Amino acid sequence: MSEALATRSTAAWHSAADGLAVEIVNVIDGRHGGALSGQTFDVVSPVSGAVRAKAPRSTAEDVDVAVKSARKAFRGGAWSRLAPRERMAVLSTFADLIAANTERFALLDTLDMGKPVMDMVNVDVPGSATCMRFFAETIDKIEGAVTSTAFDAFHYILRQPLGVVGLIVPWNYPLMMAVWKLAPALACGNSVVLKPAEQSPSSAVLLADLFIEAGGPEGVFNVVQGLGHEAGAALALHMDVDKIGFTGSVEIGKKMMIYAGQSNMKRVTTECGGKTPQIILPDVADLDRAVTYAVNGIFANQGEVCNAGSRLLVDRSVHDRFLDRFLTVAAESYQPGDPLSPETTMGPLVTSEQQKRVLGFIEKGKAEGASLKLGGGVPAGLEKGAFVSPTVFADVTNQMTIAKEEIFGPVASILPVDGLAEALTIANDTSFGLAASIWTSDVKKALTFARDVEAGVVWVNCFDHGDMTQPWGGFKQSGNGRDKCLEALTHYTQTKSVWVDLA
Ligand code: NAD
Repeated sequence: MSEALATRSTAAWHSAADGLAVEIVNVIDGRHGGALSGQTFDVVSPVSGAVRAKAPRSTAEDVDVAVKSARKAFRGGAWSRLAPRERMAVLSTFADLIAANTERFALLDTLDMGKPVMDMVNVDVPGSATCMRFFAETIDKIEGAVTSTAFDAFHYILRQPLGVVGLIVPWNYPLMMAVWKLAPALACGNSVVLKPAEQSPSSAVLLADLFIEAGGPEGVFNVVQGLGHEAGAALALHMDVDKIGFTGSVEIGKKMMIYAGQSNMKRVTTECGGKTPQIILPDVADLDRAVTYAVNGIFANQGEVCNAGSRLLVDRSVHDRFLDRFLTVAAESYQPGDPLSPETTMGPLVTSEQQKRVLGFIEKGKAEGASLKLGGGVPAGLEKGAFVSPTVFADVTNQMTIAKEEIFGPVASILPVDGLAEALTIANDTSFGLAASIWTSDVKKALTFARDVEAGVVWVNCFDHGDMTQPWGGFKQSGNGRDKCLEALTHYTQTKSVWVDLA
């Protein structure tokens, strides 16, 4: 991170935000434009509730133009058949440009969806640049194979790009979720049509411009703005899209599969929601450390995180000590405030609708008999924005709505348990399976848990550790894809079996 950003004041961030040119457009064939119908939708500030900008409300017609541009670019071969080293050079430059534009990306996503600006500076932007660089480096390692056969023939397997890939992504990490899919899709030689979430449309435009600046050919990376049920559905239903890479809710992830069945049986990978359990056993080596991780595990990014550790399964023998400490650390570390202030650790939720939804879950928690220990409403003085105080419920059972459904907000549920066996049963008693964590000093318990918990990512004595080598994806209804990691390359390529008769 540049020193200038690390030490920048709140006033300086506000003045940078005031001077920021925000152009929310479609980017098709390298050109900026509006929806063909001329229609727009409002982009609303989660801090003030005011309309900040207008974005193109694209329809199936716009999507069709973007898909045609992507197909033409794919067939033209300027990207799909570019020498691997050259494609690698473009994506490496693209990664550098992402990092060099940290300030602009930080402002765009923070203004759109409200996350603390320093989270963008410290996590989202460097994480996105690293992801792009990682996949750039894989390009000259994507290969097929030659096999020996029983026939008098020569057989080889080509690994080829799919063609046109549609990417549909959510608003909670707008830049990073787009890049997690864009990077492997481009590395493999595909053309892309990206549909950002309507709540966070801005950073995708800068991303598409930087691809061209890095030397990427026009038409290879297109952006279509719009509403989910309009532009998103049109992309997922398009007969000439070969694959949809989706990150979002379970409800819409299921629709992606239905759309594929209703159209051309395109491939679909999904990364959906979660209800991550964080298990604290009595032999936890350092309770204070576990509490710090557990608090960050649920409250970082306002709890708007797919793997938010929303279910804390705490052994009864350490329950009261854990709860006391958890409440203190949560209250000290997470005070909602201005997301453009470098001191802020919790911004507003993405929209007033999301705020209402989360407050509705809090009311359900109270009505179903959970004990409200912290927060539970809108913080004083912040009534204009979509803020919700960090909220902690104790005495939660796994049958309560707050333990079952993905809240996607700053609400922690603490469930008392007796030992590992009960913790495992409750951890697995969910339709989700994205992530899980356990705190124990008993290696046998840790490894048993890691083996038996139904989740795609498991953390032992930590939470949210990750790097590009780690497959990111879920079990059960948390989705079927794997982002990051080399396995992601298989989602954006297909094999072709070639026989040459030697007889
Ligand atoms: P969402 O499912 O409402 O929307 C995701 C995307 O789908 C948006 O671009 C939206 O416009 C589009 N969409 C909505 N309806 C559509 C339709 N009918 N047809 C086509 N597209 C449609 O999710 P969200 O509220 O934006 O994001 C929050 C969800 O994302 C949470 O459930 C969260 O857990 C999940 N998420 C998962 C991961 C992961 O890696 N597993 C990461 C981040 C977020």
